[in-house]
Amino acid sequence: MSEYRTDLNFAKEMDAADPLAGYRAQFYIPKTKDGDECLYLCGNSLGLQPKALESAMAQELTDWKNFGVEGHWNAKTPWMPYHEFLTDKLAALVGAKSSEVVAMNTLSVNLHLMMVSFYHPTAQRRKIVIEGNAFPSDQYAVKSQIKFHGFDPVQDLIELWPREGEHTLRTADIEALIAEQGSEIALIMLGGVNYYTGQLFDMAAITKAGHAQGCMVGFDLAHAAGNVPLKLHEWGVDFACWCSYKYLNAGPGSVAGCFVHERHADNDDLPRFAGWWGHDKNTRFKMGPDFKAIPGAEGWQLSNPPILSLVAVKISLEMFDEVGMDALREKSLKLTGYMEFLLDSFGRDDVTIMTPKNKDERGCQLSIAVRENGRAVFDALEAQGVICDWREPDCIRVAPVPLYNSFEDVHKFVSFFAAAIGASNQLQEAV
Ligand SMILES: *Cc1c(COP(=O)(O)O)cnc(C)c1O
Repeated sequence: MSEYRTDLNFAKEMDAADPLAGYRAQFYIPKTKDGDECLYLCGNSLGLQPKALESAMAQELTDWKNFGVEGHWNAKTPWMPYHEFLTDKLAALVGAKSSEVVAMNTLSVNLHLMMVSFYHPTAQRRKIVIEGNAFPSDQYAVKSQIKFHGFDPVQDLIELWPREGEHTLRTADIEALIAEQGSEIALIMLGGVNYYTGQLFDMAAITKAGHAQGCMVGFDLAHAAGNVPLKLHEWGVDFACWCSYKYLNAGPGSVAGCFVHERHADNDDLPRFAGWWGHDKNTRFKMGPDFKAIPGAEGWQLSNPPILSLVAVKISLEMFDEVGMDALREKSLKLTGYMEFLLDSFGRDDVTIMTPKNKDERGCQLSIAVRENGRAVFDALEAQGVICDWREPDCIRVAPVPLYNSFEDVHKFVSFFAAAIGASNQLQEAV
């Protein structure tokens, strides 16, 4: 017997019993032209706006209005050490020590800064490993780094592809490749959760396999941060970067996060691009010519940070801290499992969930391949006020986000989906 049922009452019962159900009211849900709430399943792309942000943002504007430059010390949350108020919660979110994380820059910028420090190709060891369908910015970043060092991406970029007929990668295949070619690999840099398939990689195993061969191992956690529990310190990952506008709800283009393992904290031999905000806090304003890095992740900062963006990260982290990743994950597994159960109930072989069935290998997102008329199905969903996203050639990505989506949202979505693909079943009657 499944733990789920297809009727709408089941969804309502689940929502009534959901300890996190109250968080939905803390977000603005976009409306359709007719003024109805959209069915928002796109938190993997841009998280919703927390209602608490407006007044927090207004406070910064007021402090700037009233204090000018003295807001650096006199603002309610002083701007000078502002990023430090985020550190502990950021560390908890990704399973790190406080000295290992910092909120700075944006994701692609941080990937480059990390590669400046952790990708040192030599003639013998110069390859980078990424996923075959990595997010474009990651592909551009690694290829441009390889070229920057005078090497050739055609030879020196190893892309991991699923086996014939499969959608996702097997950990054992990744480990085998690393074992075989490890002596030529300088850096392994994968998405923690692949943006396209929703596959969550075994970061502990991949890090271990990479280190056994003397490779550096970093992760792009754009689709993992705020989505799945992380233990970056324990896993021994060398570095990681993530954006804060997807599952972390900190607004479009908001300040990103960066992790550097403490084993690299004091290593002055690492090449790095430096800026004044990474300089020793005690002597920063002596304005001397010689750079002295703050030990730990903070030492990679370049500029004084955009406070109007950090305020959104702060609000977000406070919310994640209050809920806790364990509680979020518990709901997330049920919510996504429920969506999978309902989709499976059609038994249609032109609809395939590409995301792994194993719960340990996915976050909240499901990537649904719709082989016949996928784009028309997506358009039909959109016409019903569903916001999810479309990726060529045939993929509809949906993310039931545990912080603000409900079981009823999932039921509604699958009902619209059933109508759009012309599947007749009891779901439609139930709506
Ligand atoms: C969203 C995303 C990005 C976006 O990069 P920005 O620098 O924030 O624009 C990069 N990589 C991955 C894997 C992503 O999912």
